[in-house]
Amino acid sequence: MSDQIFLYNDTPYKKQHEARIIGKSTDFGIKLDEPIFYPKGGGQPGDSGTLLVNGCSFKVIQVVKDTEGQVFVKIDNADDSTNFENGTLTTQILDWNTRYKYMRTHTALHLLSVCLPFPVTGGQITFEKGRLDFDMPESPDKDQITDRLNTMVEKDYTVSHELISQEELRGKPQLIKTMSVKPPQNVDFVRLVRIGNSNKIVDLQPCGGTHVKSTSEIGKLLVSKIEKKGRMNRRVSVVLQD
Ligand SMILES: [Zn+2]
Repeated sequence: MSDQIFLYNDTPYKKQHEARIIGKSTDFGIKLDEPIFYPKGGGQPGDSGTLLVNGCSFKVIQVVKDTEGQVFVKIDNADDSTNFENGTLTTQILDWNTRYKYMRTHTALHLLSVCLPFPVTGGQITFEKGRLDFDMPESPDKDQITDRLNTMVEKDYTVSHELISQEELRGKPQLIKTMSVKPPQNVDFVRLVRIGNSNKIVDLQPCGGTHVKSTSEIGKLLVSKIEKKGRMNRRVSVVLQD
């Protein structure tokens, strides 16, 4: 059981939040009890932003999860004169514009995996675009995929999440589309992300990233590039149009 509450999971729209320091690591940085900063993982970059500590403002330069699943926030220009004692109250301010773009692009990649029902072997999100690598022999039609994506965006499907036990997930291996990112093994429950409404499930898969709450928030999409990366690998890139 973690001593942290990962607010980026349950309340991804939180832009500012107070949290207490509950640990420090020379390698990774500061451990907060209720981080809103998403740690780099699953192809999604770690968040950026600002951390206020004892009246000083620090730039958040990296957010990581260690092998035990603890989240650490690395800040710029921290020296020994700053009080980072356990129990110190801090204010986290998220770089919301960047995070929101990641949330929209990340959710768009879920829709892309629906359009192309092939095993996903890799993926990455940057500020400019998102891409997935598919284990598939033929290149799909760019315009066709673009149209299908935009239809799903316009349908305004709800994006929600629920927890599933490791045991239940083991019984449903078909839920795991992404071969390159395995669901965490050191936790009892895994987060399952659902896109759809009550009478139609569009997508359902384990995912620890941050998502928008409905597909219309993604806005217009364009499949910008399809590259051949080996005999059985197609890299499909998607960009937000607004
Ligand atoms: Zn996701």
